[in-house]
Amino acid sequence: MFKVNEILMKRQLASGVKEIIIFAPMVSRAAKAGQFITIMTDEKGERVPMTLVDWSATEGWIKIVISEVGLTTLKLGSKEVGETLYYLAGPFGNPVSELNSSTIILVGGGVGVPAIYPIARSLSRNNTVISIIGYKNANSILYEREIGEVSDEVIIATDDGSKGQKGFTSDALRELLDSGRKADAVWVIGPAMMMKACSEVTRPYAIKTFASLNSITVCGSGMCGACRVSVGGKTKYTCMDGPEFDAHEVNWDELILRLGAYKEEEKRALGRYILRSAN
Ligand SMILES: Cc1cc2nc3c(=O)[nH]c(=O)nc-3n(C[C@H](O)[C@H](O)[C@H](O)COP(=O)(O)OP(=O)(O)OC[C@H]3O[C@@H](n4cnc5c(N)ncnc54)[C@H](O)[C@@H]3O)c2cc1C
Repeated sequence: MFKVNEILMKRQLASGVKEIIIFAPMVSRAAKAGQFITIMTDEKGERVPMTLVDWSATEGWIKIVISEVGLTTLKLGSKEVGETLYYLAGPFGNPVSELNSSTIILVGGGVGVPAIYPIARSLSRNNTVISIIGYKNANSILYEREIGEVSDEVIIATDDGSKGQKGFTSDALRELLDSGRKADAVWVIGPAMMMKACSEVTRPYAIKTFASLNSITVCGSGMCGACRVSVGGKTKYTCMDGPEFDAHEVNWDELILRLGAYKEEEKRALGRYILRSAN
């Protein structure tokens, strides 16, 4: 029998991006599209949020996809199959808003692409789903097949044009809307700059646009307040009120500023970890 929080599978999807399956039966039974978990790799580690990409309530596992950008995600990526995580809690956040008989455009960038997968799967049951998935280049493409399985149409964009359309996801979104395609709603998940750009594209079309925010989140349950964001001039908590918000109402500049608040400490912590690992 597996241990709770045991890593069952790990695979590299692209440089610095890993898919990890974890035995977490309680979470898998409650999971819904759009929700996230928080994890700690070890007792002294920090607590970080990760989107639930997939799960099986019958087999008791959950799947996350991580981008190794700093100390915790590097430590998480270096955990081997059979090892357990010190802490894992969730699901947190509200499930995705449900729509019926609508045409929906889902936009995912980088590790935001796996994050739109459960949303596409859920919404594709009753809606037409067009997915725009964006990457740096052809080598960083991931979840193309999975997104294809739950979308009516997939548009790929790469920054350098090495696969699909050349340009950012916001360019592909603009092209699609300018070409006359109608959409009832748009969802965007990815780096904050990307979500901001996409929300500016849909604003003149007055298309309802949802963004799944990635503010610094610690407890996941509304107690610490770290994840607060300004939406429509009001303070909201990403973990309790989100993570999905009206993208046209988000104060993007404040979010982007706050995401960089601990850059120096994060750099120092990563440097210490790399030094320790080398010795
Ligand atoms: C609801 C939610 C879902 C997320 N889902 C995913 C996912 O599925 N896959 C994935 O790779 N990433 C996801 N993230 C982002 C992920 O949590 C951060 O990349 C991670 O915490 C970085 O930690 P680090 O120690 O590796 O890097 P650090 O060097 O500590 O930080 C690098 C950057 O990551 C951001 N960050 C740091 N700590 C946090 C934190 N506690 N919460 C949020 N952002 C932080 C900051 O912008 C920081 O500058 C999600 C974030 C949120 C809020």
